[in-house]
Amino acid sequence: MSEVFEIIGMMPPWFWLAWAFLVGSFVGSFLNVVVYRLPRNCLSINKPKRSFCPSCKTQLKWNDNLPIVGWIWLRGKCRYCGVKFGMRYPAVELLTALLFTLAMWRVLFSDGNISDQPLAWLTVLHIFLIISVLLPWALIDLDLQTIPDKLTLGPLIVFIPFAADEPALNFGAIAGHEHAHLIFGWGTVWLDSLVSALVAGFAAAFGLWFIGKISNVVFAKRAAEMGGETMGFGDVKLMLLLGVMLGWPKLVAAFFIAIFVGAIFGSAQLLKKKGHFTPFGPYLTLGAVVAAIGMDRILWLWDKYMDFLKSAA
Ligand SMILES: [Zn+2]
Repeated sequence: MSEVFEIIGMMPPWFWLAWAFLVGSFVGSFLNVVVYRLPRNCLSINKPKRSFCPSCKTQLKWNDNLPIVGWIWLRGKCRYCGVKFGMRYPAVELLTALLFTLAMWRVLFSDGNISDQPLAWLTVLHIFLIISVLLPWALIDLDLQTIPDKLTLGPLIVFIPFAADEPALNFGAIAGHEHAHLIFGWGTVWLDSLVSALVAGFAAAFGLWFIGKISNVVFAKRAAEMGGETMGFGDVKLMLLLGVMLGWPKLVAAFFIAIFVGAIFGSAQLLKKKGHFTPFGPYLTLGAVVAAIGMDRILWLWDKYMDFLKSAA
């Protein structure tokens, strides 16, 4: 086992980064399938196995189906009926590929090469899974303003064991901030980490649910227009999942990034007076991915900002 990781550690970083890009582009291609098929109840994820044209239903050839290059090769059109495939398919593939590459670089290579350490690869896998669950979340939420339970309860089962992997939850912590398992201190790091991530998830979910209940009373007229609820229960379930995925420090960071970015885009939409309004879910998932990959950089900025405030006072 250790010899395998010795060999892995001897490979040049660009090899593993190229590998992450390739894996990411194929995962992105699969995520497109999930986003298209999961909300359409008559379609199963693995049947038919091959992708088909949404217009003429002809099965695509394997080489037309290759991520990114297939779309460029066909110039974004169906070979059989000429219908245009949206830019979103190659965009999701490219985004997934870039995020996988960035995540691998951050964990294994950005502060010295630690690719010979098995636990570091577990952290990489953890972040790959976070990206792979949250991207379809955001896209389905944008399309339909609702999330199928398969995308919350299923991943929750997968991420609970990962919450015991304290180094993964603590990845990106810097000196003075490393507290993925702050709350208990039972002496067993993995149990602390697991319980504290679960508590973070349930506390955040309950908090958001409670805010929703209050806003139903405060904005009673708006709530009546929206069928009784101002806040979707989907966002509450997302909070639970994010807590277990990220641990509490990154959950807090994700929440503030979501509010910050949401406020900027929300006011831009208000200024343009578009009736269209973006749900909160995609902002939360964006915050979560940024926190998962770049928590230490965020904390660094935060420290600088605090220093600036102190020097100004
Ligand atoms: Zn077609």
